[in-house]
Parts: sequence; C-alpha cells; structure tokens
Amino acid sequence: MAEKLTMDTLVSLCKRRGFVYQSSDIYGGLSSAWDYGPLGVELKKNIQEFWWKEMTRLHDNIVGIDAAIMMHPRVWEASGHVENFTDPLVDCKNCRQRFREDKIPDENRIAKKCPDCGGDLTDPRQFNLMFKTYMGPVEEGGSLVYLRPETAQGIYVNFKNVLQTSRVKIPFGIAQVGKAFRNEITTKNFIFRTCEFEQMEMQFFIAPEEDDKWFEYWKKERWEYYKKIGIRQDKLRFHQHGPGELAHYAKDAYDIEYEFPMGWQELEGIHNRTNYDLTRHTEFSGKDQSYLEEVTNRRFVPFVIETSAGLTRTVLTVLSDAWEEEVVDEGDSRVVMHFHPLLAPVKLGVFPLVKKDGLAELAQKIELDLRGNFATFYDQGGAIGRRYRRQDEIGTPYCVTIDYQTKDDDTVTLRYRDSMEQVRIKIAQIPDFIAKADSEYRREK
Ligand code: ATP
Repeated sequence: MAEKLTMDTLVSLCKRRGFVYQSSDIYGGLSSAWDYGPLGVELKKNIQEFWWKEMTRLHDNIVGIDAAIMMHPRVWEASGHVENFTDPLVDCKNCRQRFREDKIPDENRIAKKCPDCGGDLTDPRQFNLMFKTYMGPVEEGGSLVYLRPETAQGIYVNFKNVLQTSRVKIPFGIAQVGKAFRNEITTKNFIFRTCEFEQMEMQFFIAPEEDDKWFEYWKKERWEYYKKIGIRQDKLRFHQHGPGELAHYAKDAYDIEYEFPMGWQELEGIHNRTNYDLTRHTEFSGKDQSYLEEVTNRRFVPFVIETSAGLTRTVLTVLSDAWEEEVVDEGDSRVVMHFHPLLAPVKLGVFPLVKKDGLAELAQKIELDLRGNFATFYDQGGAIGRRYRRQDEIGTPYCVTIDYQTKDDDTVTLRYRDSMEQVRIKIAQIPDFIAKADSEYRREK
C-alpha cells in the first residue's frame, strides 16, 4: 500500500535535499518566510520558464512586461485595494490565536468559538492585507507606498504603453511574473500561503461582448497547462466562486484547485474582471483608457479575463504531486519524485560504475560535454544503487552509467527514473534520446 504524503514529510525532504529552507533559520526562523535552495530555485525557474513560453511565445497576441513592485499609491485607491482588500480578523480571547473568520469551520464561526481551544472569539474586524512602507527619508503621509498585493495592476497601468509601442490589437494579452506581498493573517502549510510570494499573471484584453467566449477559452487553456506539466488530473478540479466569494472586481471567477496534503485548495484563479480596472484608472488618473477598434471605428473600455497563478504555490503543487514512496521489492522501498522531465531540477545523472581504470575520467568528460544541453549532475560516491536512489529522491528523470564496455564500444547504460528500466545507447545519442523521451513522457501512476 503506497504511503500518503504528509506536509511534515514534504517539508523535511525539501530541507534535506535543498529545495526549500526556513528563512533566517540560524536566528530561529521567520514564520511564513521560506528560501529556495539549489534544487528549489531550479525547479521554480523551470516552472516559470515553461509558463512564460506557454503564455507569451506560443501565442502571437500575448506580450510580457516586468513592472515595479512599488507603484504610485493612487493605483491602489483606483484598484479598490485600499478600501476592499481586507480579510475579517478574529482573535481568541482565551488562547490569543488569530484567525481569518472566513477560513474557520462553520460551526466555530457561528458559535464564535475558537477552533483550537474552544474559547470565545472576538467580533470580526476588517484587516487590510497590504504592506505599507515609506519612500524617502521622511515617514509622512505624502511618502507612503505599498508593496503590490498583486502583479495585475502593473499591467493595467501599462495598457496604453503596450498598445502604443507593440502593435497589438484586441484581443491581446499582457503577461507578467513577479513578487507580490500580502500581510496574511494565517500563514501555515509551508509555502502554500506566505506573506511574500510570486505570481504568474496574464491579463487578456477583449471586446465586452466576447467575455463569455474568452473566459471559457482561458479556463480550458489553463487546465491543459497543468496537464502539460504532468499534474495528475484526478488531483485537479474547478471551483466556481459563489456570489459571496467573488472579489470586488469580478463578474465571474473559477479557481483551479489541487488536492494538497492538507486538502483541496486554490492553485490558480481565472477571473472575468470586466472593465472595472481600466474604468477606475481612467477615473483616478484622468487619462482615458479606452480602445479604438479600427475596423468598426468603435470606442470601448476593454473587458479583461485574468489568469492568475501562484508561482510559489505551483512549486508546492509540483512537489506534492511528484512525491511517491514506492515499494520496490519485499522490504525495499524508495522515495521518488516524479517530476515532469521539463521541470526536473537535474535532468541527467552521470556515474562511473567504479572510480578506477579511467572510468571516472571518462564519465567526467561525458558529463562536461553534456552540460550545454541540460542540467547534469556527476556522482561517483558510494554503491551504484545508492546513487540511483539519491537521484530518484530529487526527481532526476534519467541517469547514465559508464562501465568497462563503454571503453570498448562508446555505449552507456541509461536508466529511467519511473520504470527503473535500463537501455544501452551510444554516447553520441544521449541528447537526442533524452529529447525524445522528454516529449513522450507520461507518468504511469
Ligand atoms: P485566498 O482567498 O486564498 O487568500 P485569493 O483568492 O485572494 O486567495 P488571488 O488574489 O486570486 O488569491 O491570487 C491569485 C493566486 O495567487 C492564487 O491562486 C495563489 O496561487 C496565489 N496566491 C495568493 N495569495 C498567496 C499567498 N499568500 N501565498 C502564496 N500564493 C498566493
């Protein structure tokens, strides 16, 4: 019977193998802040690059930008965040724990009892999630700035710039990946909900009457994307926002949810934001944000369909989904991370069977020659079986072993991570062989 993943198991693997560390660990850690280690940063970059390619280069009508984190404070008045970006906060009068009222179980919320100790809860207070700071040396009202709580607004305020400089026409999209900050009331579950995180957002500008069509289109596209990065389909589902759940700007919204170790939770939001943001920016800036459709000579404020995915939350999804503790033989098991080969932090492990008789030098040369093709890792330490298992645990999809036969006929043994099958191939074939295996990759379990 396969083991079920717990968050503790995942956190400990991530630390042990260098995916994610607690921030400021030597000072006792800063709660809810996490650092990405050597393997974690590769994984995160691979996810980001795949998203970027999918969402910009593979479409002829989506371009990218990279806007500043700190923006004019009026942006956040126009967007509604100063007024509306709040969560209802309740405190337990007994144990002093703090909760988001909308995230505690119904029975506790109605009875106003603490879910942890059963103590009395305070009435909810609205708490704004934006981090404030001051630009310049003087801490006064005029120099107040916010750290952006979403990357979307950096796109809206550049709508006209992009329109005038890149020859796009509606329908078109602007994509951005970057940090966002929210002063979250509760931040548990590892990197799932943190105060500093990264988003991958795309805002698609359309004619108002086409909103249903494009909303459906992006729902489908985004579902397909998770299939392409190898997420198991039975672990994904859509959740439509009910009237009470809709954000202040949204006409319709679907979340793509994933079944994390702690249960089903949002991974990405697909929102019909109507013309809310561009209309508000017109009002607040005094600069017209409408669009002139050349063919019809019609002027309108575009509607926006937004796809908003958490990058760091996708890292957690990919890690959770990849993990398996597999029984190999009686009394023998292995931990294997089934990363899609396109995302795996290391693509190819290269091992000499033994260090002596020139095999180590030969293996090192092969590894060096392949570095330009993909991320490689050379390992000559310990028994070969142990070396395979170490790569299984960090999700390396392929390993090649150099043995005595290699010296005679220039062949190596290539081992697949998932099936553990081995094939003999020529050294010169390795790059093509792997490119083909990548493109045909299907996770079996
Ligand atoms: P929630 O209601 O759970 O706080 P949300 O609905 O406000 O989240 P969105 O504003 O739609 O979230 O944000 C889009 C995406 O950004 C989310 O689907 C998630 O992947 C990511 N995200 C949002 N907040 C956080 C956070 N605190 N930490 C990590 N990722 C986040």
